Amino acid sequence: MVLDLTPIISGKVDRLDFKYDLDTEGEESVLIPPDDVSFAPPVHVQGEIVNNAGYMTLAFTAELCYSTHCARCLEDISGKFILKFNRTVANSGTLQDEDNDAYVVIKNGKLDIDRELVEELLLEFPTKFLCEEECAGLCPKCGKNLNFGPCDCPKKKEIDPRLAILQKLLEND
Ligand SMILES: [Zn+2]
Ligand SMILES: [Zn+2]
Repeated sequence: MVLDLTPIISGKVDRLDFKYDLDTEGEESVLIPPDDVSFAPPVHVQGEIVNNAGYMTLAFTAELCYSTHCARCLEDISGKFILKFNRTVANSGTLQDEDNDAYVVIKNGKLDIDRELVEELLLEFPTKFLCEEECAGLCPKCGKNLNFGPCDCPKKKEIDPRLAILQKLLEND
């Protein structure tokens, strides 16, 4: 969504509230989920731009329902991720360094909220999820999901690394 900030820049109003649903499907969608993640539509976005006696701030939250897989046991998982965004808004040309991440830069009084949302999401969205903190994962040998109980693979005993070298020598004999 592109917001026209003219009313707030001209001083007509002190704040602009906005609320919309971001399209996550179709070719027009700007929201590309990370690998192995899908976002269920709609993404609710809600926030405001406030004029604080001379400088403007943009704040919003976006709620994204995602589905993905556990990084250890590969079970399906889904949840809701809440992105919180809070920045100072600056007019293009008033900053020395427009790549400064502390600011949202606007041109011609227009602010593209989707662009800010997508950039922030790329930074903040977790790169991996677990079904639970204590997920036991899969057996590397037989592939059984160990959250449902142990598998029948023989368990290797933990042995002292110095003894392991000795044992290797004996095995090679
Ligand atoms: Zn898991
Ligand atoms: Zn196994």
